[in-house]
Amino acid sequence: MAKAKPSALMGNYNRAEVAFSHGDGAWLVATDGSRYLDCASGIGVTSLGHAHPKLVAALADQAAKLWHVSNLYHIPQQEKLAEMLAARAGLDSVFFCNSGTEATEAAVKIARRAMYDKASNKDAPRQTIVCFEGAFHGRTLAMLAATDRPNYRTGFAPIPQGFAHVPFGNMNVLRQTLLDDAASATPSIAAVMLEGSQGEGGGRTLSHEFLNDLRGLADEAGCFIIADEVQIGMGRSGKLFSYQHSDMTPDIVAVAKGLGGGFPIGAVITRADIAQAMPPGSHGTTFGGNPLAMRVGATVLEVLDEAFLAEVAATSKWFWQAMQTLAKKHPARIRHIQGLGLLLVVVLDEAVAADKVIASLRTKHKVLTVAAAQNSIRFLPPLIIQKTELQLAVDALDSVLAEWQGEK
Ligand code: PLP
Repeated sequence: MAKAKPSALMGNYNRAEVAFSHGDGAWLVATDGSRYLDCASGIGVTSLGHAHPKLVAALADQAAKLWHVSNLYHIPQQEKLAEMLAARAGLDSVFFCNSGTEATEAAVKIARRAMYDKASNKDAPRQTIVCFEGAFHGRTLAMLAATDRPNYRTGFAPIPQGFAHVPFGNMNVLRQTLLDDAASATPSIAAVMLEGSQGEGGGRTLSHEFLNDLRGLADEAGCFIIADEVQIGMGRSGKLFSYQHSDMTPDIVAVAKGLGGGFPIGAVITRADIAQAMPPGSHGTTFGGNPLAMRVGATVLEVLDEAFLAEVAATSKWFWQAMQTLAKKHPARIRHIQGLGLLLVVVLDEAVAADKVIASLRTKHKVLTVAAAQNSIRFLPPLIIQKTELQLAVDALDSVLAEWQGEK
């Protein structure tokens, strides 16, 4: 038998043995014709499902007109989407890029630059970004430093300085850290960066009280709040931005994933006084804010109106109740459910191997899910998913756990 030709692709991904030819709503069709219920959404990206008619029309219309001109010129589509995003975030000014990591990286640059502008001693501006244990903010060198996964850093040293981690959701430690720093001769903390609910970290969620308290604390300590809404933002929590469940408005917000519904896009949204620190030449990207991405982003945002978000909240409520009932049925296998809205994470007992459950869901039941930290299964369905479709996912998990033989 002839040897299989080695792949020309780098081996940096663990890929499942399936490829897809097309999709429709919450469903993906594999190259062999079988249909899969997509509760992964390309890792929280295809917020409106596959082949949403409004997105297809917007992209096709723009593709026939103009794809790219660069930021050497005015791009009216950027102006429009920036206004929409800023208004809905409760902020003023937007920078566009192409991915989540680019957005979080730019958010950190903007925070540092604004602190530099404010510093009376330019040799010692506030630079440190305080992040949470379990955080994931991306894979550039700086975002590896922000991300709390030491194994992601192996072999990539030197990793940039200027990031610190505090225990997740522990207000006492955070208060002490920020106030001690603020009281020191040369305060060094520029910002606290957080995910309202940790995506890769397995759905650990900051309470509304924590976020409300953080606003007062950050103001007292003189540092910014950066909300990384890359995964939990854009309607997934049932509000457009997850911090809108609380009274806290961050100083800087990073978004990506769901904003493009599958088209690469990222954005940083901030206040006018902070944006002032970014004069021409201070930051940039060739592709960021191109007309194609802008048309798609504006279309996604138009669909995510208040009525749509109310539907997402209602669907999430139903899904959580169904999964909590399932957790009661399998107390030895499911530890608990956590997350926020349609980022629902099933934390399994350690005797049950999450990767095997995820594989069984995919191969036996044709339901796609994603792994996350803490031996858990992440459900990230498109926001347009129906309860009847989610019931299929709940039934599939029920069946896999009922058949679980205890093999690790
Ligand atoms: N921030 C969060 C919270 C994320 O979940 C991710 C990706 O999973 C990123 C940043 C990085 O986004 P990207 O993979 O688009 O660079």
